[in-house]
Amino acid sequence: MGFEKIVVPQEGTKITSSNGKLNVPDNPIVGFIEGDGIGYDIMTASKRIWDAAVNVAYNGNRKISWMEIYSGEKAASVYDGNYMPEETFDAMREFLIGIKGPLTTPVGGGFRSLNVTLRQVLDLYSCVRPVRWYRGVPSPLKAPEEVDVVIFRENTEDVYAGIEYESGTPENEKLARFLREEMGATFFEGAGIGIKPISAFGTKRLVRAAIQYAIDHKRKSVTLVHKGNIQKFTEGAFMKWGYEVAAQEFAEQTISWDDVASKHNGKVPEGKILIQDTIADIIFQKMILRPSEFDVLATPNLNGDYLSDAVAAEVGGVGIAPGANIGDAIAMFEATHGTAPKYTNLDKVNPGSLLFSGVMLLEHLGWVEAADLITKAYEKTLDQKLVTYDFARQMIGATEVSTSQFATTVIDNMSR
Ligand code: NAP
Repeated sequence: MGFEKIVVPQEGTKITSSNGKLNVPDNPIVGFIEGDGIGYDIMTASKRIWDAAVNVAYNGNRKISWMEIYSGEKAASVYDGNYMPEETFDAMREFLIGIKGPLTTPVGGGFRSLNVTLRQVLDLYSCVRPVRWYRGVPSPLKAPEEVDVVIFRENTEDVYAGIEYESGTPENEKLARFLREEMGATFFEGAGIGIKPISAFGTKRLVRAAIQYAIDHKRKSVTLVHKGNIQKFTEGAFMKWGYEVAAQEFAEQTISWDDVASKHNGKVPEGKILIQDTIADIIFQKMILRPSEFDVLATPNLNGDYLSDAVAAEVGGVGIAPGANIGDAIAMFEATHGTAPKYTNLDKVNPGSLLFSGVMLLEHLGWVEAADLITKAYEKTLDQKLVTYDFARQMIGATEVSTSQFATTVIDNMSR
C-alpha cells in the first residue's frame, strides 16, 4: 500500500500473521509514534537501547527497521491539523506491530482520547500490563520482589463502551422512563445514567488471551477479578464465562479451583494452570499483603484500570510501568504515563515505561535474548545508582542523570 506521508523503510521486511502466530523476519518493520511532550526524549533514548540490545544479542544478524507513523501533535503538524490520520490505522493493519509514546488529548476534539480511539478502531481488546519489581527500584513494600503479575484488562466493554446519558437531556429522560415504567427500576430523580455492557464474546476473547499467555510464559495461575457479588449479570457473568472458556478450550492445560479443592486435596496437579477468581475489592488488599498468590490476572475494564495503577505503584509507579494493547494480530505497545508537558525537551524524565514496553515488544516478537539483555543492563545501572530525577529523589546516595545519559549507561552495561 502507498502512503501519503509515511515512509516505509526500504531494507525492512513486513511481519505477517497466520493461524494466530506471528512470522517475524530478521529485519522486521516496526511502526513507532513518537508521542507528545516528553515523547521525543523517551523515544529517542529507548530506540537507542532497543537497537543496541538487538545488535549485541544477535551479533548484528537481526535489526529492527523503524517506520515513523503519526498521531497527536506531530500528526497535526504533518497532516495539516489532523491528530489521527487514517493512514496510521492503515499502517498498523498492514505492519501489525507498533510502539507509541504518550499523546495529548486535544481539548474540544471530536473524540474522547487518541489512545482510546486507537484501541477501538484497531479492536485492540486486551490491555496488557506486566508489573514486576526490578532490583534497585524504590518501593513502599517490604518484599517488592514478590510482585510479578501480568494484568489483562478488557479494553472495549464495561465503562469503555462509553454508553452514558447526561442528567436533564431528552435521552436520559427517555431511558429513565423506560427503566422505571417498563423494567421496574427505582433510582433518584435526575440521575445521570450509564450502561455497563459485558458480553460472553468480549469476556471470552480476553480470558482466552490471558490463558494463552499463561501457557506460553509458563505461568502458574489465571485469576478472574470481578465484582460479581454485587453485579451478577455483568461482573458475575464475566467470572462464569471466564471459567467456561478455560473448561471448554483449555481443559488439558488448566484446572479450576473447585476441582483442585474437591479432587486434589487443595494441591494443584503438576503442569496445570490454576484458574481461580477473586472479588475486585479484596485483591487490592491481597496485592499488598500476599502478592505472591497472584500471577496472570484477567479483569473487566474498570477494575483493571484501578488495579493496574495501584499495583504499578507498589514497584516504582507509572514512570516505569510498561503496557500494550493487543488484538488478534495487531499489537500497539505504549508508555503508560502521560506527556508530562512541563518536562518537554528537558532530557530529564525516566524512559523506563516506554523502554519496558519495548522489552514486551521484543518478547512478543520472540526476541527474548535481546529483551533479557535490557532487563539485566537496566538493573546493573540501578545498582550503580545512576538514575533520572524521579528515582534520585527516592534513593539515598543516587546520582541524577539525564534521559540520554541514562540510555548511554544502560547500553554500556550490556554484555552477553
Ligand atoms: P502525566 O503526563 O503522566 O504526568 C504526571 C506526573 O507523572 C508528572 O508530572 C511526573 O511527576 C510523573 N511522570 C510522568 N511521566 C514520567 C516519566 N517518564 N518520568 C518521570 N516522571 C514521570 O499525567 P498528566 O499530567 O495528568 O497528563 C498530561 C497529558 O498526558 C494530558 O494531556 C493527558 O491527556 C495525557 N495522557 C496521555 C496518556 C497516554 O498517552 N497514554 C496517559 C495519561 C495522560 P512529577 O511532577 O512528580 O515529576
